[in-house]
Amino acid sequence: MTKTALITGGSRGIGKACAIEFAKAGCNVAITYAGNEAKALETIKELEDLGIKAKAYKFDVANKEETLKAIEQIHVDFETIDILVNNAGITRDNLIIRMSDDEWEQVINTNLTGVFNVTKPICKIMMKQRQGAIINMTSIAGVMGNAGQTNYSSAKAGLIGFTKSLAKELASRNIRVNAVAPGFIQTDMTKNLDGEKIAEHIPLKRLGEPEDIAKTVKFLALDGTYITAQILGVDGGLTL
Ligand code: NAP
Repeated sequence: MTKTALITGGSRGIGKACAIEFAKAGCNVAITYAGNEAKALETIKELEDLGIKAKAYKFDVANKEETLKAIEQIHVDFETIDILVNNAGITRDNLIIRMSDDEWEQVINTNLTGVFNVTKPICKIMMKQRQGAIINMTSIAGVMGNAGQTNYSSAKAGLIGFTKSLAKELASRNIRVNAVAPGFIQTDMTKNLDGEKIAEHIPLKRLGEPEDIAKTVKFLALDGTYITAQILGVDGGLTL
């Protein structure tokens, strides 16, 4: 049976690259987005051109009710959800002495609580299916820390604990849970950074492309059948 991959924040950046990678592997794809409908529709067109079923769903992962409703709809539309990529995420960078409560809460609510909101109902579906693969998008910031990102690195470090605990909970149900920790990847999120300067500090001497992450996510979901509870760094060697 054709597998379905659900990718939160799959309308652009890393999530879009993941959606395309799964489509190329013959999976049907459900993508979600927060507000940028034009990008989502553009991505759906590209996915459909690959000959698979693709649909986009607009909801805020930080909103529990909206999320639950959307996931129920996705389950009805696709009948099965075999792969979940928890990719939606934001940054609201600031030094701690200047960080507002709002900046803290937005990032924790989206990047950490949002993953809980999405994963809980999906786990129920996967447990009934007795199979599934979940990949959480953490970050080197969650592994190494990063000045100006206490909110972001707290959420991403939280995802590492979440991944390991959930992997232990779900292993007996044949559901694998892993995380990918990207370094600097060229997307809208990093477009204001000085790429050339950053590349000097990366052993592979370049920033990553969304496809570098997508290939790893696809590997963990479809090929890594004996891999669970792992946090895989995809960072050009930055954490060496
Ligand atoms: P991006 O280009 O900014 O795309 C973010 C995606 O998430 C968009 O589809 C966006 O939808 C969606 N989104 C944002 N907030 C949401 C919310 N509250 N509810 C639902 N969807 C929401 O980001 P990216 O650079 O591809 O990053 C993807 C993931 O990788 C994030 O978790 C990020 O933390 C992680 N990551 C990125 C890097 C990097 O260097 N880029 C490094 C390490 C980790 P709209 O288009 O509608 O806004």
